[in-house]
Amino acid sequence: MDNLTKSSLNFLTSSHLDRMADIRFKNHDINELINSPKARFIVVKNGENLLSDKDRADPISLKKEKLNGLTINSENCYLLGTKDNLIYFTLDLDLCDNEYLPDKTTEFLNLRKHKINEKKWTGSLLAYSNSLISWHQNHKFCGKCGSKTSPKELGQARYCTNENCGIPHYPRTDPAIIVVVTKGDKCLMARKPEWTEGLYSLIAGYVDHGESLEDTVVREVLEETSIKVQSVHYHSSQPWPFPYTLMAGFVAEAENEDIVIDPHELEEAKWMTREQIIEGLKKGTHKLPTSFSISHKLITDWFDQGECGKLADYLSID
Ligand SMILES: [Zn+2]
Repeated sequence: MDNLTKSSLNFLTSSHLDRMADIRFKNHDINELINSPKARFIVVKNGENLLSDKDRADPISLKKEKLNGLTINSENCYLLGTKDNLIYFTLDLDLCDNEYLPDKTTEFLNLRKHKINEKKWTGSLLAYSNSLISWHQNHKFCGKCGSKTSPKELGQARYCTNENCGIPHYPRTDPAIIVVVTKGDKCLMARKPEWTEGLYSLIAGYVDHGESLEDTVVREVLEETSIKVQSVHYHSSQPWPFPYTLMAGFVAEAENEDIVIDPHELEEAKWMTREQIIEGLKKGTHKLPTSFSISHKLITDWFDQGECGKLADYLSID
C-alpha cells in the first residue's frame, strides 16, 4: 500500500476539499462569498465544535440565515474551501459581537473527546477548521515588529499592519513524529504520568530545527528510552488539530532492549508482545490511544501483522 493510501485511512485526513487557491490570492471580497446561498459555516466556540447531540458524530454546518444576525466578516470568518457545490467557512464565535445559542438538537463539544470516526470527511473538515481558528487566535501580532496583524487572503494569511513592516504570516503547522519501535515480536509502549491510568502509547516528539523527520525519530526514541533504532520507515501522516500539529508516523527497529526512561518525559516504557496487550485489554489494565489517532492506527497495523488476529476484535468500545 502506498503512503498516500495509508494516510487517507487515518482519521481527520483527506477531506478532498477544493481549497480554492485560485481565488485566495486575488484579494477576493470575502463578503461576496459569505453571502452566497452556497455558503456553509462551521462554527467554533471556545475551541469546541457544534455537533449533533444525537450521535455526537455529525458536525453541523449552518446556513447564514441560521446564525441569528451575527456580524460575519473577514475578522472572524475564514474560507476553508468548496465541495459538492457548497462553500465552507469556519466562524470564530469568540470574535462575534453577539452570542450564538445552539438549538436543542445541537451542542458544543470538544472534538478530542467525541467519536467522529465514522464521518471521515466531516472529521477532517473540523480538524482543518479548528487548526485555522487556533492559528488566527495565536497570531494576532507580528512576530517581527510586534504590531497587530490582520486576516488576508480570505483567512489563509495574516499581514502585519505596520506599513514599514507589512510582512505576511501564513498558517503554521508544527511537525512531530510518532513511531512504532519493534524488537522481534515486541513493541515499545510508553506512558506519561498525566495520562489516564493504564493508557500506553508510542514514542512521539516534535521536530527540532535542522532535523529530518527520521533524525527526530532516532533522537526522540534515544532521549526518552535509551533505545537506539537502526532502520526507520515512513508509514503515514495525520493532521492533529490540538492546536496545529502534523503527525508523521514511522516504523523502526531497535538495536538494543534495555530501556532507561527519561523521567522528565515518561513515567514508564516497556516492551509488549501482542499476547501481553491482549491480556491487558481483557483485564482492563491496558488502554490504547483514542481510536481516531495515528498512534492507534500504527499500533493496529503492527498488531495485525502478527499471529493473534485483528486488534479491533479485542476492543469493545473506545
Ligand atoms: Zn510587522
